[in-house]
Amino acid sequence: MSMLVPPLALSAACTACGLCLLTCPERALLPAPGRPSLDARRCTGCLACIEVCPRDAIVELER
Ligand code: SF4
Ligand code: SF4
Repeated sequence: MSMLVPPLALSAACTACGLCLLTCPERALLPAPGRPSLDARRCTGCLACIEVCPRDAIVELER
């Protein structure tokens, strides 16, 4: 059975700059109040958002 636990989390370091939204090839990051929200069903775990985030606000969760 697949796990629906999101593999990523956005921390309070996020400044809502929007770079990760523009970078995600799956459109798994969506605009939301405060900081982007992650649609875990779309995320493939490519980690492009982690590389582009200037605040290191996106972290990988243990699976
Ligand atoms: S790139 Fe980083 S700081 Fe910018 S919106 Fe995404 S998580 Fe927040
Ligand atoms: S890991 Fe890849 S697919 Fe998942 S949110 Fe980040 S950029 Fe999008």
